[in-house]
Amino acid sequence: MSEPAQDPAPVPHADVAGGPDAMIVCESVVRIHQHGAIEVQALQGLDLHVTSGEMIAVVGPSGAGKSTLLSILAGADSPTAGTVRVAGWDLTRLPRAERVAYRRNVVGIVQQQASRNLIPYLTAVDNVAVPLGLAAYPRRKRAARAAELLDRVGVASCARRLPGELSGGEQQRVAIAVALANEPPVLLADEPTGELDTATSHEIFETLRATSTRDGVTVVVVTHDPTVSGQVGRTVAIRDGRTSSEVLRHTEQLADGESRVVAQEYAVMDRAGRVQVPREFRQALELTRRVRLTLEASHLELWPDDRR
Ligand code: ADP
Repeated sequence: MSEPAQDPAPVPHADVAGGPDAMIVCESVVRIHQHGAIEVQALQGLDLHVTSGEMIAVVGPSGAGKSTLLSILAGADSPTAGTVRVAGWDLTRLPRAERVAYRRNVVGIVQQQASRNLIPYLTAVDNVAVPLGLAAYPRRKRAARAAELLDRVGVASCARRLPGELSGGEQQRVAIAVALANEPPVLLADEPTGELDTATSHEIFETLRATSTRDGVTVVVVTHDPTVSGQVGRTVAIRDGRTSSEVLRHTEQLADGESRVVAQEYAVMDRAGRVQVPREFRQALELTRRVRLTLEASHLELWPDDRR
């Protein structure tokens, strides 16, 4: 690598929207891809706040803007408009040198294809040592640190094997160790279980969850897998380039000592107060262009236009 290693230099937290606990703040984020005269709006005013140490799943149909969001959070792409801050870094105007430091120290990335996360001719332990070397981690301590990271994600026994000698699940665990090598505060995973069977997917999610609960890393996972998204406290749905709804889960204690997980879906309101009414609600009540809102003591009522 030609760029010099740099210390992370986050901008001060004082003016960070979303409060001091907000690790990721996206507000009104727009990303337009321009191809000659044709514009594709990949993100159209997306809002997202993620608290430090939280783990969220991002779901949504193909083309919704999930990969674009992840690329922006990874520092690989820039928004056309809006605010994006991660760990106090302003990603809307990050100079190239700082972008390298950001990618090296602030975010760890796990991609869908296990083979793309690892260098095929290096053993697992040597793969984990690569980012340590890039960050100028002391040479004589690298092997021990890499072994410790592999142990943390449950694949200590694979240290001396090449990626081709590992199962898909083991490869993804090694990839998580690589991503965590420089202790980034944020881990981004793009369909990390896309190529794995259900049981292995579950294990990988448990590893990611432990990373968030035990190590305090903020984890954002893009997934298509509805069973997997049930394993996180919050699932954010993206549709047409904006956050459309969130499902929050919490565990409720029942009188007989048992507990159950309760999931509640919320619509997302942007800073201007706009809320998207789900299509099935609109169809059921034939809601069209105009609706009537009335304020009650504890809620709002939304009525069809009675003057049509
Ligand atoms: P998802 O990951 O949810 O499938 P993407 O973020 O890949 O969605 O894409 C969102 C939209 O932006 C799609 O319409 C896609 O075709 C478009 N898009 C993404 N990347 C580019 C690009 N580099 N050039 C042009 N259009 C793009």
